Amino acid sequence: MSASQPSKKLKGLNDLRRQCPFVTKQALSEILQYVEDHGVPDAKSAKSMRRSAVADLQQYDECAHGPMFITEPMLCQDGSHMPVCMVNLLTFLYAAVKVGGHFYECMQSAFDVLGPSSLEAPWRLIMYSDECLPANPLAAHARKKVWCTYVSFKEFGQQLLSKEDSWLPIFVQRSSTVAEIEGHMSQVIKHLLCTIFHGKMASPQHLGIMLDKPDGSKWRLYFTLGYFIQDGASQRECFTIKGDSGSKFCLKCSNQVAILLEGETDEEKAVCKATKKSDLVLTSNEECLQSWDRLHSRKATCTAKDFKLWEQASGWTYTPHGLMGCALLRDYFQPCTMFVHDWMHATCSSGVMNIGLCSILEAFQTEGLQLWKAMQGYMADWTLPRAFESCKMADIFSAARVAAHRQAAKMKCQASDILCIYTICRYYVQLFASRVPQLQKQVLAFLAICTVLDTLCSIGKIQVLGRDLDQKVEVALNAFIEANWGHLMTKKFHWLLHMGDSLQELQQLLPCWCMERKHKQVTAVATKITNLKYFEQSVYTELLGEQLHRMGRGTVCTSNFVILQGGARAYRNDVVLFKAEETSSAKWDCGHLQAPFKIDGKAFCLIQVYSFGTYKPEKFFATWTNQDRRVVVPVAEILSAVTYTCLKDGILTLIPSHLK
Ligand SMILES: [Zn+2]
Repeated sequence: MSASQPSKKLKGLNDLRRQCPFVTKQALSEILQYVEDHGVPDAKSAKSMRRSAVADLQQYDECAHGPMFITEPMLCQDGSHMPVCMVNLLTFLYAAVKVGGHFYECMQSAFDVLGPSSLEAPWRLIMYSDECLPANPLAAHARKKVWCTYVSFKEFGQQLLSKEDSWLPIFVQRSSTVAEIEGHMSQVIKHLLCTIFHGKMASPQHLGIMLDKPDGSKWRLYFTLGYFIQDGASQRECFTIKGDSGSKFCLKCSNQVAILLEGETDEEKAVCKATKKSDLVLTSNEECLQSWDRLHSRKATCTAKDFKLWEQASGWTYTPHGLMGCALLRDYFQPCTMFVHDWMHATCSSGVMNIGLCSILEAFQTEGLQLWKAMQGYMADWTLPRAFESCKMADIFSAARVAAHRQAAKMKCQASDILCIYTICRYYVQLFASRVPQLQKQVLAFLAICTVLDTLCSIGKIQVLGRDLDQKVEVALNAFIEANWGHLMTKKFHWLLHMGDSLQELQQLLPCWCMERKHKQVTAVATKITNLKYFEQSVYTELLGEQLHRMGRGTVCTSNFVILQGGARAYRNDVVLFKAEETSSAKWDCGHLQAPFKIDGKAFCLIQVYSFGTYKPEKFFATWTNQDRRVVVPVAEILSAVTYTCLKDGILTLIPSHLK
């Protein structure tokens, strides 16, 4: 046989690929491997696949908490009722525990630490809602844009709550449908909470619910409503607050108003210049509910025109069918304390850092230092930990994108990109600061918001007290005013003043990175669904089925990365900091992770070690020189993968603030 003719073996594979509709090579390879291991399934049709996926979930309908899905009639704006399907959380919880794996282990570890839940000490449910877009975002109509609600438990703690499968999806519905519902998401959330806490089958608050562990033994779980975490737009929807300029925009404050500066029409740019917590008059939960109740009673007596003015003044978008008007929830619903601002959106998504970073680069530019232009080249010199490899740092500073950032007066990039670039930008700002002494105040303002973001990123890794966070936020807000950047202080700057209280109250402050990653599970499923008539049912079946199966299967180990304490990953070829050897003069040791491996079930890494050079804590970097020495380090001693740049005979690493 000549070399140019494929062997029979290869030809068979190619024929299979050409004969069948497209699937990726990797996917086909896994399908074939599965069939080889498990044999060909008896049923093969697409219809059978649908039926088996549905049946897989229906097996839980027999549990004590009722069927997996509940359909609730929701009042529409035209007065009609529309049946809307939602997940029965209690049954989904039952299934998530029964299959074992990730969710069950989260619960077990929380029980181990906190002891059993009880009537007096119930667990607290966290609820997150947001919109995401499964279809091609460039399509003319975003017909598949969906609202999603995910829930989890506060007791899992910050680190476990940063894993996607710690969150259970309980509501997915196209935004176009939600828009028809009176009060939109606010009515949806009301129905979700009523079915969870006031359903016919169970009362998780008062009686607890029974869950079957994988080994057949049982847990009784008491839980109540904990808190809501959302970005500003979702908060406006769910809590029916106006949130616009000229009216009371903050649910938690009674004396704060955002102002549109002269000539400005963009509501997002309304400013709020409060810089101290002592400037705020906090609204109590009772006052907040009373304010809504007063508006409610005016509805019957006011003219439509007057009522509109009252709505504007009180800051509510009135609907009697939403969360605020629900009598069943009133006993325990605390609108002010139960709302937590998501710090990811506040700082990195058109947030404080997007604005601060753009402003400092612009200030350098005005003084003749061309940092905007130089940054593209600088960024190309740095290497991020592989966990962040999707961030293309140099591209963020291409000429076209720099023009867009400057035009918008804020960095226009992904929130996760901001997290990668701000520490590198800080390095250059500190490096060049002495050349522009006239920008001292602007540099201080930028460094102060870096410190706020450092602190937020450290929560869950080291102990951070609410009052420490407050103090750093106040320094940063004040520095912004001092730098003459007060006109840039949008409402997101104001949210920062409430985060210390939330942290103190909850002992955690979640960013929404994880929930945004969770959206990918929804979009992966929803993008492929073409029959919009059964869209929601199909999404639910695939989404829940996938998650239960994935959790039951347990964690997949690869030889490419290790999971560090705290849940972050370090990959082969990353540069990592690890606990210093006894003889070392440095605070930590640093090396190049060459190979993760396991001995007797314990994980280790082979690391090529650098020798310590210098450490500049105030500048957040350390330098290291090359040496030809390798050590084996237990994974438990690896502290973090770090961002680095190469020097002539070694490297310079940025030091994460929690390791300083
Ligand atoms: Zn406020």
